[in-house]
Formats: sequence, structure tokens, C-alpha cells
Amino acid sequence: MPTPLIVRKRAEMRNLILTNRALGRRIGFVPTMGSLHRGHTSLVDQATADCDDVVTSIFVNPSQFGPNEDYEEYPRDLHADVHLLSQHGVRWIFAPDVQEMFPPGDSTRIEVSGPAKPYEGILRPGHFSGVATIVLRLLQSTPAHKIYFGAKDWQQILVIRQMVQDLGVDIEVVTCPTVRDKDGLAMSSRNTYLSKDDREQAITIYSSLQQAEKHWCNGMAINKIENDLKKRLSTKGIQIEYADIVDAKSLNKISKANPSTPTIILIACRVGSTRLIDNLLLPSQTLSSC
Ligand code: AMP
Repeated sequence: MPTPLIVRKRAEMRNLILTNRALGRRIGFVPTMGSLHRGHTSLVDQATADCDDVVTSIFVNPSQFGPNEDYEEYPRDLHADVHLLSQHGVRWIFAPDVQEMFPPGDSTRIEVSGPAKPYEGILRPGHFSGVATIVLRLLQSTPAHKIYFGAKDWQQILVIRQMVQDLGVDIEVVTCPTVRDKDGLAMSSRNTYLSKDDREQAITIYSSLQQAEKHWCNGMAINKIENDLKKRLSTKGIQIEYADIVDAKSLNKISKANPSTPTIILIACRVGSTRLIDNLLLPSQTLSSC
């Protein structure tokens, strides 16, 4: 497959996309922060299947990191990323520097509310404003037909969908399933921070989610499922930030299963000093697969 073209400037990127749109090409866009793994390439593969051309951005966005978060340490390896993307049929890699996306004097941010308020919104103030701001800015340079996000960052998808609807952004948002390692741990660029012992602990996150799903299918009361889930995580030494069963659209807590309410388990926790998030969309209890 041809090596993707690396584009550094917003105007050049926008021209390339608009020119190709005018030729009738359908464009898919996959925004990432790099340090790519199979989770990211699954989005690229979906975009390649749906569209004529795929553009992937690689940009570690400072505006979504809090002051005590890992912006400086966040893993970066453009060379390896380009190599990986070249194997997945990406046509363009948009890799601007910070000054290009946030020029000197920059002073505009998207203010988010609604789905951005609970959970990550409380624990990482400003995070979703930073995410919405960069996604909108990137989209100015990559005016694609479709944009792809991973279900692993469930709340992020709700925030982006809300922004797209509220601002009338002309793009289709596509959600792709979470990709996991063989041991069940959801793939994440931050997994490189985990020591061998941390990793042993971290695999409990998915096994606990699976156990909770079994309880759900057996009709166990929601508060009991949550208590059991929290116990399984904390027994392994995992520090829980939240582990809740909620309405998958509103993120409101639910106390009773309702077949018409899509329901999800959301987890954020710390394993050693690494913060991890995961989730599991619960099947309808009326399905035979449950
Ligand atoms: P990031 O580089 O972490 O900002 O992620 C870029 C995109 O990849 C986001 O839409 C993530 O939800 C998605 N992503 C990250 N990890 C996974 C995974 N394990 N499975 C599916 N999508 C993922």
C-alpha cells in the first residue's frame, strides 16, 4: 500500500480534502492522539471499508489534559504510527504541531454541558471542552463525510454527538466497538504505563464487567451488581473512581432494568498510578443471548 502523505498545515489539509470531495470521493476521518494500537486501526479499517479515502489525525491535544495529568509523558512515536497506518490504507496523516492548532493568542473554546457534566466531567474538569474544541478545529481542516470514534470512550462519543447536533456540523458520527487484548484489557495508549503487576490487576476490570453482565442477565438487582463489581475491583487493589450502571444515552443512574433503556456499565479506576476507563453495554434482558 502507498505510504500516507503527512500533512502539517491546516490550510493544506483542508485543500486536499475539499479537492477530493469535489471529485466525488467519500472521506472518512479518524482523530487520534497517536501511539497507535489495534483499537485505533479498527477505526481506520471501518473508515476504509465505508469511504474512498481515509485521513487520520495524530495530535496530542494539550487542551484536554488537566494541569496534573500526563500531557508531557503521553507516549509519542510518529514514525511507528506512520508505518502502522501505511498498512491500513490511510491516504493522509494530519499531524500538525501545537502552534498550528492553537496559534499564539488563541482564545476560543467550546463550552460543553449535558452529557459532558457527570463522571469524567467532574473528575477531569475542562477535559471535554478540550476534546470538543480540538475535534471541531480538526474538522475545519478535515471536512470529511464521516468521523469515527471508539466505544471505549463512551462519554466522549455522547459529547461529540451532542456538539455535532447542536452546532449543525455536517458529519456522520460512527461508533466502533472496543478492541481488547487477549487478556481482555481494553487497548489504550496508556497501557504502556502499566508494570507487569499492574497489568495483572488491570485484567480484573474486564472480568468484573463480564461477571456483572452475567448477574444482569440473571436478573440481579442493580445495586447488588454494582456492589459486587466494586468489591471485585477493590479486592484486587484497584482504586475505583466510579463503577456505575447507567442509562447509556443520558448517563443518569438507573435503579431498575428497563427493556426500552439502553444500559451501560461505566468504570474509571486507577491501577497503580495509571488511570484507566472501560465500559460494557448491557444486552437487553429479553434477548436469548443474555
Ligand atoms: P486516543 O488516541 O486515545 O485519543 O483515541 C483515538 C480514538 O481511538 C478514540 O475514538 C478512541 O475511542 C479510540 N480508541 C482508543 N482505544 C480503543 C480501543 N481499545 N478500541 C476501540 N477504539 C479505541
